[in-house]
Amino acid sequence: MSRQNLLDLLPSELEDLAESLGVPRYRGRQIASWLYGKGATDIEAMSDLPRDFRAILADRATVAVPEIERRTPSQDGSQKLVLRLEDGARIQSVLMPDADRLTLCVSTQVGCGFACAFCLTGTMGLERNVTAGEIVGQVLAARAGLEPGGRITHIVYMGMGEPLANYAATVKSLRLLTDPKAFGFSPRRITVSTVGLVSGIERLAKENLKVNLAISLHATNNEIRDRIMPVNKGFAIEELLEACRRFPVAFRQRITFEYVLLEGVNDSPEDSRRLVRLLKGIRAKINLIPFNDWEGSGFQRPALHRIMGFQELLLEHGIRATVRWSKGEDIGAACGQLKETVEV
Ligand code: SAH
Repeated sequence: MSRQNLLDLLPSELEDLAESLGVPRYRGRQIASWLYGKGATDIEAMSDLPRDFRAILADRATVAVPEIERRTPSQDGSQKLVLRLEDGARIQSVLMPDADRLTLCVSTQVGCGFACAFCLTGTMGLERNVTAGEIVGQVLAARAGLEPGGRITHIVYMGMGEPLANYAATVKSLRLLTDPKAFGFSPRRITVSTVGLVSGIERLAKENLKVNLAISLHATNNEIRDRIMPVNKGFAIEELLEACRRFPVAFRQRITFEYVLLEGVNDSPEDSRRLVRLLKGIRAKINLIPFNDWEGSGFQRPALHRIMGFQELLLEHGIRATVRWSKGEDIGAACGQLKETVEV
């Protein structure tokens, strides 16, 4: 029988587990504080639990934190972590320091099945979903390796995979991250990015999680979007934006629209104007991402003046737009550059 990963359980479920093993519920709360407060990974070392309970627990459960197999620092201060999961599968997380923040970018699937034409991860296909415990395990692994005094302040679901295609694990991990008895992150500091799965966005809207939503839009009409994002054939732009209009956006927050700039594909002034029209009535901000190249992609990053011109036009129409100069380009850790081979 495979052992239960304690990181897959909410604090309340740890209490249930304690009770089912014949000890009072508060033992579950003690386990939670070992896991999340102290970052403990060894059940035997949870010294305020009765010895025989520790033995029973260790028999049935483990604390499976992904192992950092490789750590590649970038010249810009970001770091790519290659993490090995229990079955040998590999995923990547990226740590990105910025002024007063430290953002961790987590993966939700090994590979990805959506095959966006400009994304390297998309060429891997989907290997498997990542569990909730493996999502929060990325946070624990990254946190354990920080310099003294370092603290992860923000989390973005923008690594490998599509969070809303791994819905249950994504939502459970969000509950773990925001539960005051687990990680206790403010939901405002967490952003879930999606390729645009309308059904998933609608479900997420009802979870009362209050996390931020980011949409990988990348095109301003269905013809272009169909071509570069096959998912668009299932959910057209109009339907996607309708779901965004209905999404509960927290006070003073906005939905982020990511827009990768691809030369000659979606970077014209006409595209920029269409984008303005599309986002009317949505509390939006736009993140322009100059394409990060990879070998054989067939796409190119537009020239600097094109990028700035695109942004300028949005700003002139009162739309918030920033250019995200990706972190970690030199180490293959930038947006859409994550790819790992599975162990043979
Ligand atoms: N599947 C989710 C999470 C991935 S987030 C989503 O699609 O939103 C990664 C972001 O980087 C997405 O917006 C993705 O479209 C973008 N991206 C992918 N490949 C890229 C590339 N080569 N250059 C720049 N951005 C890219």
